[in-house]
Amino acid sequence: MNSFLPESIQKVIDEFSRLPGIGPKSAQRLAMYLLQSPEMRIGSLANAVSNVKKGLSFCVDCFNIAASEKCRICEDTMRARNQICVVEDILDVVALEKTRQYKGLYHVLHGVLSPVDGIGPEQLKIEDLKTRTAGLLASGMVAGEIEIIIATNPSLEGETTAMYLTKLLKPFAVKVTRIARGLPAGGDLDYADEVTLTRALQGRMDYI
Ligand SMILES: [Zn+2]
Repeated sequence: MNSFLPESIQKVIDEFSRLPGIGPKSAQRLAMYLLQSPEMRIGSLANAVSNVKKGLSFCVDCFNIAASEKCRICEDTMRARNQICVVEDILDVVALEKTRQYKGLYHVLHGVLSPVDGIGPEQLKIEDLKTRTAGLLASGMVAGEIEIIIATNPSLEGETTAMYLTKLLKPFAVKVTRIARGLPAGGDLDYADEVTLTRALQGRMDYI
C-alpha cells in the first residue's frame, strides 16, 4: 500500500501505525503533518523520542517511572504512607494525579491478569505488593490503618485482578477498598475525565 510514496515517508507511516490508538489513516496524517513542519520541530521531536528511556527506570517501591531509585511520589514526604492505590499502568498514575485528590502512594502492576494472553501473577508486580504490605506491617504500622485501594479498570481482567489481590491481601488484615463504579464498564481509567475519577476515588468501598 502507498508504494508510490517515498520510502522515508512510508517508514514514518509504518512506525506511527505501530503506536497504540493510531490507525493507518492517522499515521498518514501525522506523517504529512511532519512533512509540513519546520526542520527544527522535527529535530526536537526526534530528539525527545530517542531520549525517552534515557536515565529512566522503575521506582523500586511502586514501579512507577522514576528518574532515580524512587519516583517523585514515593520520595514526597507529604504523601500518606498508609494508603496504596493499585493501578494497572503508569498512565493511571498520571490520570489519578491530575485529580489532585489522592495523597497516598501507588503500586503499578504493569498489566492485569489475563490467562488467555498468558499473563499470570508472575508477570505482574503482584508478589511485590505482598512484600510491600508485609513491609509496612513490619515497620510497625497497624493493619487496620493501612488501606490498599484497588483501582484496576472495570474490565473483566481488571475485576479478576481485583479479586485475586483481595484474596492475596486477606491474611494481612489490611483494609482493601475498590474504587467506585462511576467509571464506564470496560472503560479505561486513563481516559476518564477528572470529575469521574475523583468521584470513583471518593466513592470507594470495602472490597471483600
Ligand atoms: Zn514510587
